[in-house]
Amino acid sequence: MINKVSRSQAGSHPPLTMQKAAAHFATITHHKMLVCEGCWKVGLLRQGLLHDLSKYSPTEFLVGARYYQGDRSPNNAEREDIGYSTAWLHHKGRNRHHYEYWIDYSTRASEGNGRVGIMPAKMPGRFVVEMFMDRIAACKVYRGADYTDADPWNYYSQGDTAQFLHPETARLIEHLLKMLRDRGEEETFAYIRRHLHKRKLQ
Ligand SMILES: [Zn+2]
Repeated sequence: MINKVSRSQAGSHPPLTMQKAAAHFATITHHKMLVCEGCWKVGLLRQGLLHDLSKYSPTEFLVGARYYQGDRSPNNAEREDIGYSTAWLHHKGRNRHHYEYWIDYSTRASEGNGRVGIMPAKMPGRFVVEMFMDRIAACKVYRGADYTDADPWNYYSQGDTAQFLHPETARLIEHLLKMLRDRGEEETFAYIRRHLHKRKLQ
């Protein structure tokens, strides 16, 4: 830790280069296009266009380019360097498809599912759908030619995300991920389109 601090104070962060900036731009734009395509297929045009737009802001873009890795998130490299990720903290506070955006706190046990303190608020359905598309896109890039419709569920079920979600949010994202695994993209996207249209995905 002392080491990390003194290194940062010495100004020895990785250098920002044009090559890394170009590679980071290509990575975030490719991801954005994949999510946009998914969102558009279910009728979420505006969310598709706006998805992750803050990644192009100087606060996030310059950090992402400086810590560009190629095979993993630059946020993790920034964490290892300075102890936390300024880019992620900026990002999660501005993008409503991240469950971290919705982490509130309760002062009374009756409000917080019996808990006092950190409390996940229920995410509106359309942002759960955008989170679903985000996870599919991330898995597609990560798994490449090996990608299957089961990957997003497997990734979710191996992680510890559920404990940070409002119970109804967890129920919805799990329902969609399992449907994708069992029935594929076409049927699941059609289901989402129908339910969003009838305002059943609240
Ligand atoms: Zn995002």
